[in-house]
Amino acid sequence: MSTNVTRDTFDQVMVPNYAPAGFIPVKAAGSRVWDQQGREFIDFAGGIAVNSLGHCHPELVATLTEQANKVWHLSNVFTNEPALELATLLTETTFAERVFLCNSGAEANEAAFKLARKYAADHYGADKHEIISCTNSFHGRTVFTVNVGGQPKYTEGFGPNPAGITHVPFNDIDALKAAISDKTCAVVIEPVQGEGGVLPATQAYLDAARELCNQHNALLVFDEVQTGVGRTGSLYAYQEYNVTPDILSSAKGLGGGFPVGAILTTSEIAKSFGVGTHGTTYGGNPLASAVAKKVIEIVSRPEVLAGVRAKHQRFVDGLNAINAKYNVFKEIRGMGLLIGAVVSDEFAGRAREFLKAAEAHQLMVLVAGLSVVRFAPSLVIEDKDIDEGLARFDAAIAELVAANRT
Ligand SMILES: *Cc1c(COP(=O)(O)O)cnc(C)c1O
Repeated sequence: MSTNVTRDTFDQVMVPNYAPAGFIPVKAAGSRVWDQQGREFIDFAGGIAVNSLGHCHPELVATLTEQANKVWHLSNVFTNEPALELATLLTETTFAERVFLCNSGAEANEAAFKLARKYAADHYGADKHEIISCTNSFHGRTVFTVNVGGQPKYTEGFGPNPAGITHVPFNDIDALKAAISDKTCAVVIEPVQGEGGVLPATQAYLDAARELCNQHNALLVFDEVQTGVGRTGSLYAYQEYNVTPDILSSAKGLGGGFPVGAILTTSEIAKSFGVGTHGTTYGGNPLASAVAKKVIEIVSRPEVLAGVRAKHQRFVDGLNAINAKYNVFKEIRGMGLLIGAVVSDEFAGRAREFLKAAEAHQLMVLVAGLSVVRFAPSLVIEDKDIDEGLARFDAAIAELVAANRT
């Protein structure tokens, strides 16, 4: 068996559904990453808002190692201490009274949408099954979740599509008002649209969504897969807006890099997931649960959440300073450490070129859609790493601009 794999190996052995960067990271610590050639990168991508505490955080390594020496997996035929401790902590730190554990964001949303339908069927009959979601939203890649998502390019070719899903423009109260009815079982919203371009919901929109759901006995579902676990400066973004959903999905940052997902809900709604109605073999396994519990503990520390707000400002100030030099962005937006830089019309549809330029300067960034450069670094990224990363970003943009404006 060959161990000298390279980036070319990807094209030879992997299904071609991804287009990974040209280098292969082999080692990482905090917000620094080293590739096969020993080149050091600064990580502003954070595993797509997953590595909430950076890479190989010592407390997470210790927790994972300790649990690895106790018990890895039991299945849900048996419960386990880490899962119960994680769920207890989530009920203590959020609106939730009940928790369902799974392994990814798509699975969390699949469970959330199924629960919303089941709850409506149990209480109001099968006619109340319509799900309202937002244009440009992203909720995962299973057939159900990808159809609740509002990006038609992701559903093309996978039909027939599940029925009973409508999309309305994000942040448009009148459109939601016009679409909602007594047939609506759930309204699904990302408090900040992540994949759709790092676009925060307005306070008025979430307030109105809550009110309309109450009027129509529909459940308000917040997809906090990307915004959760400290990303916006509160443990969950709903706390930032002070609008409480009925069901909340969490994943990505929850495991800090270990796969895990969860839905949070009330005892009343949870009753609709009675024994045998839903399940997952790996969900709530001891390894993932132990790590997630430690992540929640650390992120909940006041200094970590305060740090997210301070670092947000440092990022935004730095990006504005870069933009004052090169005039390549028309808006810097986002919350906490989920930040989007919308490229100017000159670079419309070409955000990926910024990502490529950053890679050449040993900086990892993300895009969100075609025209937004996205930053989702560790919540505990050190200020010196922010400054060094921004300096590299500055150099990358200087090169990009020079190549485009001469
Ligand atoms: C990433 C993401 C998902 C999907 O999560 P996976 O773990 O990739 O299945 C769902 N919703 C939102 C808002 C996301 O950002």
